[in-house]
Amino acid sequence: AKEEGRNGFRFYTRQLSSHVSERLVIENQLRQALEQQAFVLHYQPQVDVASGEIVGMEALLRWNSPERGLVPPDRFIPIAEDSGLIVPIGEWVLRAACAQAQAWRTAGLLEAPVAVNLSARQFDQSKLPELIAQVLEETGLPARLLELELTESLVMRDPERSSDILNRCKALGLQIAVDDFGTGYSSLAYLRRFPIDRLKIDRSFIKDIVEEPDDAAIARTVVAMAHSLRLAVVAEGVESVAQLRLLREWQCDIYQGFLSSRPLPGEEISALLAGLRAA
Ligand code: C2E
Ligand code: CA
Ligand code: CA
Ligand code: CA
Repeated sequence: AKEEGRNGFRFYTRQLSSHVSERLVIENQLRQALEQQAFVLHYQPQVDVASGEIVGMEALLRWNSPERGLVPPDRFIPIAEDSGLIVPIGEWVLRAACAQAQAWRTAGLLEAPVAVNLSARQFDQSKLPELIAQVLEETGLPARLLELELTESLVMRDPERSSDILNRCKALGLQIAVDDFGTGYSSLAYLRRFPIDRLKIDRSFIKDIVEEPDDAAIARTVVAMAHSLRLAVVAEGVESVAQLRLLREWQCDIYQGFLSSRPLPGEEISALLAGLRAA
């Protein structure tokens, strides 16, 4: 029995260390990816519910890894966050997204905000507003065409500090959206104390609005409450015409989801925009 226990322990440490070393491998590969410009942004259109017009684009990060192929963010962002690499990666995202938005704008393809996701670690950098100002100047993108997406849990970690940073960002003239709304613990009334323009209702609340009357009641109430606080509402993860019909009935402002388009590489979005323009 003693022997077994020892083996069991050895087995456990081996598993643990292989898990740790896998993270280290990924961390090193992410460091290389940063040097070798192996990250790419895909973009998902944000569509006006009433008119069907494209009124924004969300930039979504992918890692183009020689070993792993195109890696989705959920698989590497947690590691990038733990290691602090998310800070330089996030800076790359901000630059690339602003440059792309400015390129679409100067090509006459799109005059609408590009939305960038921020992680807590980036938000902790007190120089964030200065960095954003610098990137806007470098790329020539007007501040009103940049939108920051922050989750409610990120903002609520240190409300006082968040409020200060958000006010300094807002003073630049950009837009601020609360992402994944409904998955955290804050109230709309509290959130309203921050300089927020938009609320993005998390996909988990939109998913079953057609089949589940309770889910429909919640989503509909969030839309109405947000409107009474003068916030625009974006519904995430819209996949069906039936969902869109309900959102239109509730006067939700904007939707995003596979119904309109999956996130696509910049060039494919350019082609899509050019096609819309020609039509
Ligand atoms: P998110 O910000 O909530 O982004 C929405 C996610 O939902 C995206 O997944 C998108 O591809 C997916 N999605 C959009 N429409 C639909 C739909 O109709 N149905 C379904 N099932 N899914 C839909 P993605 O691109 O894998 O991104 C996952 C998460 O990774 C994002 O969630 C965001 O939290 C994070 N992320 C992405 N890019 C960045 C980044 O540049 N920086 C940081 N810090 N986080 C990022
Ligand atoms: Ca987002
Ligand atoms: Ca979201
Ligand atoms: Ca989400």
